Amino acid sequence: MAGLIDTHTHLDAPKFDNDREEVIQRARDAGVELMFNVGFNRETIPTTLELAEKYPFIYAIVGWHPTDSADVREGDLERVEALMAHPKVVAIGEIGLDYYWDTAPKDVQQQVFREQIRIAKRTGKPIVIHNRDAHEDVVRILREEKAAEVGGIMHCFSGSWETAKQCLDMNFYISFGGPVTFKNARVPKEVLAQVPLDRLLIETDSPYLAPHPHRGKRNESAFVALVAETAAEIKGKNVNELVSITSANARKCFQLS
Ligand SMILES: [Zn+2]
Ligand SMILES: [Zn+2]
Repeated sequence: MAGLIDTHTHLDAPKFDNDREEVIQRARDAGVELMFNVGFNRETIPTTLELAEKYPFIYAIVGWHPTDSADVREGDLERVEALMAHPKVVAIGEIGLDYYWDTAPKDVQQQVFREQIRIAKRTGKPIVIHNRDAHEDVVRILREEKAAEVGGIMHCFSGSWETAKQCLDMNFYISFGGPVTFKNARVPKEVLAQVPLDRLLIETDSPYLAPHPHRGKRNESAFVALVAETAAEIKGKNVNELVSITSANARKCFQLS
């Protein structure tokens, strides 16, 4: 396989501290052409920028994650806004709502989410959305803040086709990761089957959410090939064709020529 793109990864995670170079090399050997690394709090925004500045094939997505939103201090969001002008930063993210982990009150999450959507609109950058157990509020806030003006990505999408449709209507791409490869992943497979090919993306979210047959182990960007195979199977496409379509989508979404 060649020309793969991992649209969402965390190569700076401590789980890669002992073998980061090899993990990146394995991705390259597996045909991964570009990786989009996500920095989402005080620790990971600088380490994400370091990776993007070191490797020509790694780009950065930066923003404040909902589970870290209670930690946002004065000046933090201004810094994120300034970073949108960095030559390797392509999007704001991952931002959104997470009602599963109880690390930040809902109103704080929502306020930080709203402010970052406004940054995206002021700077013309796409938004990478993290949504866990908060489908209704995510869609409502995207609508109220008119996020359709910039669009972006629903990362590691886990919602229903109803939710996916609402996000597609607001100019979002739907991205699938490891969970869609699980044998019992009936809903994600059905949603993937219905997402139009020109709005479909693939990712790993490594080191989390490893695809079958690595489920439960550390994930890495090379495994995006397994997500591509599952997506190709569901779409009834040759895997190379699927990869060339989803990679073109990623370049378009991140405004890369
Ligand atoms: Zn996420
Ligand atoms: Zn992530």
